[in-house]
Amino acid sequence: MRKEKDCRMLAFHTRIHEHEAGEALCVFIEQGLAPLGFNTLILELNPGYAYRCFPEFSTGTLCREDIRRIRQVCLENGIKLIPLFQCLSHQSNYGGKPWPLYQAHPELLEKPDVPDDAKWPEIYCHSWCCSRKEVYDYIFPMMDEIIEDFETDILHIGMDEVFDIGEDDCPVCRGKDKAVLFAETVKTIHDHLEERGVKMMMWGDRLLDASKLLYQMWEADRFGLYKALEDRDRISRDIWITDWHYDWHPHGYPSIDLFLKEGFTVIPSVFMDPDQAGHMLGYMVEAEYIADKLHSPGKVGGVLCTHWDAFDEERKEHLLKGIQEEDPEDKNTSYFVGQVLAKVSQLCRQS
Ligand SMILES: [Zn+2]
Repeated sequence: MRKEKDCRMLAFHTRIHEHEAGEALCVFIEQGLAPLGFNTLILELNPGYAYRCFPEFSTGTLCREDIRRIRQVCLENGIKLIPLFQCLSHQSNYGGKPWPLYQAHPELLEKPDVPDDAKWPEIYCHSWCCSRKEVYDYIFPMMDEIIEDFETDILHIGMDEVFDIGEDDCPVCRGKDKAVLFAETVKTIHDHLEERGVKMMMWGDRLLDASKLLYQMWEADRFGLYKALEDRDRISRDIWITDWHYDWHPHGYPSIDLFLKEGFTVIPSVFMDPDQAGHMLGYMVEAEYIADKLHSPGKVGGVLCTHWDAFDEERKEHLLKGIQEEDPEDKNTSYFVGQVLAKVSQLCRQS
């Protein structure tokens, strides 16, 4: 095994929006994450933060003081705190009603005419329009505020599940190459972060050819965006890729091999199925061994456990019960995520 293995990320991701959830999260850090040896906590905020730069576009009450408290508890437990701010995609909460920024500025959306009550499959989530650079007049101040409040040198920018990009009915994107639009967006944000000395993380799914790798449309791309992977001028290899796959794939997870071959730091990411998580981690160990043998330039940066519900007191209880496997009757998603946390911790400590 690689000698830097001990420095690897063992990470937990959750969404969080409410001030009241801050204290519950601190308890979970102390009673759940720290005893399991987790060393990284990724908090997904999106508009769900009490932004001082644009309070009118905020949807949450989690504030700077909450982050200070959470960060302190993380420091006391040897855990690095990283914010996540969703860029490009996920500009609505799974449906047609966009976040407040786009209610005020619908022209920034790729598909502004979708009705507010539209649901999948009419729309999944809104995406911003890659050709409207004025979107950064809003995004960058929010991003900078998070970087300052978290006192972080790493930011996760999301970028998963982009479906609406370079659409024929967008007057400023029509005819443009989707892969170039995607890669330009990655580069624009990467440049902004690099100027601030901040490392960039992002989800890897849009860089994967779903047909070739035998993945489905969520965890990989079917619209040609994957060609952006070859655009080395725009897609920097110093980006850390969180490579998420939540289904059991009998053929394994060849995206791990691909990202290693391409020179990225790749962080395999799992969700709520302990058996699948074990399967993916087993594949990861083999992929890393093969990559070493083949002198691939990339490396495995750790493992990420994802939790997609907004954190609160109730979720905390389900997570803790899941870690202890206290209640076989508990069917809550967070309970299963807790089971995954315990399993991943066990596997990472064994390897
Ligand atoms: Zn557009």
